[in-house]
Amino acid sequence: MPIYEYICQKCDKKFEALIMGRDVPRCPDCSASSVKRLMSACGFVSKGGGGETVSHSAGSSSCAGCSSSNCSSCGS
Ligand SMILES: [Zn+2]
Repeated sequence: MPIYEYICQKCDKKFEALIMGRDVPRCPDCSASSVKRLMSACGFVSKGGGGETVSHSAGSSSCAGCSSSNCSSCGS
């Protein structure tokens, strides 16, 4: 399951959320739904969860651990 990092646009609180489909999380502090997704959640991809295998042999520039195409924080 994808874990994304969000920042609340009301109170600047950073939090992580499991998102399925087009769900939009709410800020755990102020319950605002105006949150913005950050792109730095690669390190939080769970390993060994069964089912999904992360390939390290993909020679493209896209991140294998998240859907971002310009992730520079995870070395895979
Ligand atoms: Zn907030």
